[in-house]
Amino acid sequence: MAVKTFPEYIESLRKLKPTAYMFGERIENVVDNPRIRGGINATGATYELASSKAHGNLLTTISPFTGEVINRFTLPPQSVEDLVARVKINRLLGNYVGTCHQRCTGLDCMSALSIVTFDMDKKHGTKYYERFIDFLKYMQKNDFTANASITDVKGDRSLNPHEQPDKDLYLRIVEKQKDGIIVRGAKVHQTGSLSSHELIVLPTRAMGPGDEDYSVAFAVPSDTRGVIHVVGRNTLDTREMEGVDCGNMRYSKYCPTVIYDDVYVPWERVFMCGETEFTGEIVNRFSAFHRQSHGGCKSGKIDVMTGAALAMMDYNGSAKVTHLREKVVDMIHKAETLYGCSLAASYEGKKEPSGTYFINSVLANASKIHEGRDMAECIRLLIDIAGGYVADLPSDRDFANPEVGGLLKKYMQGAAGVPVESRVRMLRLVEKLAMESADTISDLHGGGSPQAHRLTILRESNLNARKNCAKRLAGIE
Ligand SMILES: Cc1cc2nc3c(=O)[nH]c(=O)nc-3n(C[C@H](O)[C@H](O)[C@H](O)COP(=O)(O)OP(=O)(O)OC[C@H]3O[C@@H](n4cnc5c(N)ncnc54)[C@H](O)[C@@H]3O)c2cc1C
Repeated sequence: MAVKTFPEYIESLRKLKPTAYMFGERIENVVDNPRIRGGINATGATYELASSKAHGNLLTTISPFTGEVINRFTLPPQSVEDLVARVKINRLLGNYVGTCHQRCTGLDCMSALSIVTFDMDKKHGTKYYERFIDFLKYMQKNDFTANASITDVKGDRSLNPHEQPDKDLYLRIVEKQKDGIIVRGAKVHQTGSLSSHELIVLPTRAMGPGDEDYSVAFAVPSDTRGVIHVVGRNTLDTREMEGVDCGNMRYSKYCPTVIYDDVYVPWERVFMCGETEFTGEIVNRFSAFHRQSHGGCKSGKIDVMTGAALAMMDYNGSAKVTHLREKVVDMIHKAETLYGCSLAASYEGKKEPSGTYFINSVLANASKIHEGRDMAECIRLLIDIAGGYVADLPSDRDFANPEVGGLLKKYMQGAAGVPVESRVRMLRLVEKLAMESADTISDLHGGGSPQAHRLTILRESNLNARKNCAKRLAGIE
């Protein structure tokens, strides 16, 4: 079945047996763990909407590789239309789950690999592209999700990978065998690694001479022997575990540290092995695609934040207050700025030699810089509009308590006719939108730190053309 339904996706995850830890204990049943399940549900929305009447047309297409109908999350873009669809789908999903849906990163890896494996083969006569296309077809036929295993732990940031006193602080090849390679290292902040069938490993940075063992790209199933997922803390995670005061906990995000403890990778799954000169290209391609993705999903999340702000104004009796309405305009303007930059990056996309379309990287990075600043500003505006109860709303258990519950309901009243429960529910949603650390911190660091976005803009913008415009107008030859 090339397009899975949500229940089929859940069943496919149940077949995996990953090694996972959380709060110091081994998790045996990942799929039903309440902390992980919110993330699985969020990724599950990409399956749910693809098989829905309302959105199936947008989320599915025919694969030029298999000839079958596939979920677009398994297709490297083959046209400008595909690039545009990525942004629209991400905005729709941001609206639907109000957090990160966690499936874009794997597609961004596949999109980067579909360009760079071809370029490597052209230069070195290797067979990476063929191997990658076989992997891609496997992903498409099974409608699998992949995680992006990019960020290494990196040790001392002033040292290159091979200069680190502990050689494993960037993931590396420790042995080459007849049938494959053995790799060791750790990748951090691994969005949705346990909601994924496959982990796609790419280098985290441009490498140089001496870093050949670190210049490696491959894919392994998420339950491969030696792969260990350690789920980190997130604000609000104990709410999910306890099942109270959850707000929008049906959908949430988690980002484990994933340790590769001498993991075997067969050659047919290796897509780069020692080609240091292509590491910069693969990082840049992945990052640009990923920053374009963010412009879609984060504008979708701001839509939800704007809706929550407007609802709070209705519930608080402040719907007509001028300065609050102005703040709503600011939120809308920020969503459309992110969306506009990502759409523009798509419309300016160009075909690469492999046939994959690549976006305009400067526009994608401009979108990401806006995101880093504007998401934080939107959170500030939302909290300003919603009021102080975002900080310290009493628990559902207190509202249910026979001694204090009635008093709380009396004093939590807002505008006439608004049920107290609606006000409480909306405040919980605002708290989640503003404070779910795994999602809000990705606004800044997801897809690289803000400085990485700035450096890309500087590197890839035509500075001389700009200088020449100014010189011509100033009458300077
Ligand atoms: C919520 C979240 C989700 C994420 N999801 C994923 C994921 O799914 N997959 C994945 O692979 N990664 C993921 N990331 C990782 C993300 O890409 C990194 O956090 C980001 O690249 C920054 O790396 P770092 O966290 O190691 O910080 P650092 O690299 O330590 O950076 C901290 C600061 O130091 C600066 N800095 C560091 N080194 C240097 C240097 N040599 N020169 C100049 N300045 C320097 C940086 O610019 C930054 O300002 C995620 C991150 C977050 C927060």
